[in-house]
Amino acid sequence: MSIRVRFAPSPTGPLHVGGVRTALYNYLFAKKHGGVFILRVEDTDQNRFVEGAENYITKALDWLGISPDESPTMPGTGGPYRQSERKEGYLKHAELLVKNGCAYLAFDTADELKDLREEAEQQGGRFVYNWENRGVLKNSLSLEAEEVATLIKNKTPYVIRFKSYSRGDDGSLSMTDKIRGDVVVDTSLLDDKILVKQDGMPSYHLANVVDDHLMEISHVIRGEEWLPSMALHVLLYKAFGWKTPIFAHVPLILKPNGKGKLSKRDGDKFGFPVFPLEWDKETPGFKEAGYLPEGLINYLALLGWNPGGEEELFSLKELASLFSLEDITKAGGRFDPERCKWFNQQHLHKADSTLVEAALDQLLQQKGIDNTSVSTADVVRLVQDRLTLLTDLWDEAYFFFVAPVKYDEKAARRQWKEETPQILSAIMNCIENAPDAKAETLSAGIKLWASENNIKLGVIMAPLRIALVGALKGPSVFAVCGVLGKSECVRRIAAAIDKI
Ligand code: GLU
Repeated sequence: MSIRVRFAPSPTGPLHVGGVRTALYNYLFAKKHGGVFILRVEDTDQNRFVEGAENYITKALDWLGISPDESPTMPGTGGPYRQSERKEGYLKHAELLVKNGCAYLAFDTADELKDLREEAEQQGGRFVYNWENRGVLKNSLSLEAEEVATLIKNKTPYVIRFKSYSRGDDGSLSMTDKIRGDVVVDTSLLDDKILVKQDGMPSYHLANVVDDHLMEISHVIRGEEWLPSMALHVLLYKAFGWKTPIFAHVPLILKPNGKGKLSKRDGDKFGFPVFPLEWDKETPGFKEAGYLPEGLINYLALLGWNPGGEEELFSLKELASLFSLEDITKAGGRFDPERCKWFNQQHLHKADSTLVEAALDQLLQQKGIDNTSVSTADVVRLVQDRLTLLTDLWDEAYFFFVAPVKYDEKAARRQWKEETPQILSAIMNCIENAPDAKAETLSAGIKLWASENNIKLGVIMAPLRIALVGALKGPSVFAVCGVLGKSECVRRIAAAIDKI
């Protein structure tokens, strides 16, 4: 079987982590089996259409490194990839179902249906358009053929509904979901869903099934919120006489407190990003918050899927080679922002240093620092392992490029003793006279001076760090000295002696 999967978002806004993970599982499954990963934009609902959303989705998938093989911008053989460009086909298919008796035209007006709904509610029930009442409602099954012809001729608006169940049918529909296992649904409980709306636009259900068939989708991997639609979709495949794809409904991503589905608004509420990229100025994404796509991908992949074994850190390629639908968990996964950060940290430490250097170069440019003699590569070598997010970079690196103008008051008060200026003057000499500015050379020189003068190293290190960095932070002092170079060290120590 050739493997073809699709991610089918509706362009109603930015893609959130739930959607990202669905896309990721589709991508991993396709890569694992040498299949095709398709992006299909389900944009038939004009009321919910949001300008820019499709572009956002494409950019987000590109940033994550899980770009589709076929999409609106990368057409293949299965196109077009926007449902708005496939409109004619849907109506034709719905008409086929009308012809073969699986669907019918319904002329009931919105007001009539509203009255029926209210009436049912007053009696403590719920109005459902289905096999029990379709015979007495206004549709092509209940009306005479002539009457129907007249209504059509008079351009009376109608919808096309699917006949989900008919009296006397065996209503027990057995289906299999790759993740949930066997699912049995009593189809007599289903309503007659609308396939084509009054404006001639297809409903989600019709367009989705028709497209999955025409695009030869082998596996439908999607969010669990679509599990209740599975029975209708299977019935539609049967009605068309088509082969049903394999379904896999992926469990939800839950809020950090485990109470309900993670929503788009939870980012604000819990203070972490939920979108891959910035959507607008008020909604930064994981990228802007300093995450690497590799970290986010690794975290999301394991949130609901378990490859077994102890190892947790995987590249996208490794994930693809291990992925299987069978190992997706049934239970929802709680989004844990701290764990997500941890994955990012691990990937950031492993990342190619040139990536961090480029980020640092960009920061220096933004800050207008262009006359530095300090090498960004040297700085990155020292700080990369201290980062959790890429946005930590400036905080870990600024002092290599900006000499302290003030000193951490509390630290200076504690560490700066009467004899400190004298000791630091001597250290300044050690540095100045060292044969070179390598960290090991400076370290050896300073240690030698300390032992010769019977001064504990501890008395030197903290004030030296304050003089160089302005605070008690940063990597090893000798390493900092080495990167700053002799003359900058001397300048900073002299300034500190002068100012503190
Ligand atoms: N357009 C649907 C959504 O936004 C697609 C569901 C499916 O994958 O079938 O989630």
